Amino acid sequence: MERSALSETEAFVTLATNDRYAYGALALGQSLRNSATTRQLAVLVTAQVTQAMRRQLTMVYDHIQQVDPLDSHDTAHLALLARPELGITFSKIHCWTLTQYTKCVFLDADCLVIKNVDDLFDREEFSAAPDVGWPDCFNSGVFVFRPSDETHRGLLQCAVTQGSFDGGDQGLLNIYFKDWAFKDISKHLPFIYNMTSSVSYSYLPAYRQFGNDVRIVHFIGMAKPWLYSYNVNTGHLQPPEGIGSQHDEELIKRWWSVFTSQIKPRIEHEQECFLSFQLLRNVGKDLANQFGEMKLDDSTASARSSSPRAGQRAWERGEIDYQGADRFDLILDQIKSVIEKEDTEEMEKTPENENKTE
Ligand code: UDP
Ligand code: MN
Repeated sequence: MERSALSETEAFVTLATNDRYAYGALALGQSLRNSATTRQLAVLVTAQVTQAMRRQLTMVYDHIQQVDPLDSHDTAHLALLARPELGITFSKIHCWTLTQYTKCVFLDADCLVIKNVDDLFDREEFSAAPDVGWPDCFNSGVFVFRPSDETHRGLLQCAVTQGSFDGGDQGLLNIYFKDWAFKDISKHLPFIYNMTSSVSYSYLPAYRQFGNDVRIVHFIGMAKPWLYSYNVNTGHLQPPEGIGSQHDEELIKRWWSVFTSQIKPRIEHEQECFLSFQLLRNVGKDLANQFGEMKLDDSTASARSSSPRAGQRAWERGEIDYQGADRFDLILDQIKSVIEKEDTEEMEKTPENENKTE
């Protein structure tokens, strides 16, 4: 489709605060292109997303908007600086600042579009699909919204005064758009527009019945598709180490099919300026590890690995590397090792031990 035939005023929007999520954004954007959308594609990035990755994003997206979760001046922003746990949330609500568009559909970077979803633009703000965990809340991975500085300010204010009951954007948005559950059924998107892929485990008969109608798959949770190993030659898929499989294998393969056939060739083409991607040439070995190594090449990871203090500062700025250095299991290990150390020191101080050593 000619660019000129595309809508100038409506856009699909996603967010990537680091290169790992940007792999998701690449596959998502490509899946939107494959669906022959007539809308613009926009991606919000933060400073950590490397230049090489931005070049890749430009090949899929019409518009790349840098957002900065921290460098702002009004009181709402300042108050939020004291809430680093809301950092990622803060980045997502910046989508309301895209006022060059009149209407947008936000999609998490861990979504994949299976069939055209341009009809979502017939809906009004704020439309979203129910969350499988608590269906009176919406899932914030797919939603229709109208960019507006006023709503953006309102959301920031709400973040400061009420916070987020789950620590993320979903809790905040469900507080702000609190009448979603009861007021207007036309704002409830059908589940097939945000099918959380773990559903095949929780309600298999429904998945068998309706699975073919699915428009958007959403890979919620820790096991993101880009963390799986995928062998292009054999089709063998291996869940990420230490996390395990959380999704239907066929759906993960659909993500990989888009990635290997359409994204990977472009990445390889640019390999001289993006060394980490050279590893991708060996697709078929252990991609999970290769992606693991790539993590070291993104600026957050290398800034962090340079010193523990740098990592601490990044954490304090709200740049929490949820899937890397600040992973839950690493934090747990750290807590355990501190407790063990204290226990040992305590033991050494007790009189019996003092006697024993003498
Ligand atoms: N995100 C990001 N960087 C992060 C975490 C999240 O860019 O470190 C963005 C990304 O678009 C992602 C969305 O925020 O899809 C929501 O996070 P996620 O999808 O991991 O949450 P889940 O859907 O698993 O609850
Ligand atoms: Mn998600």
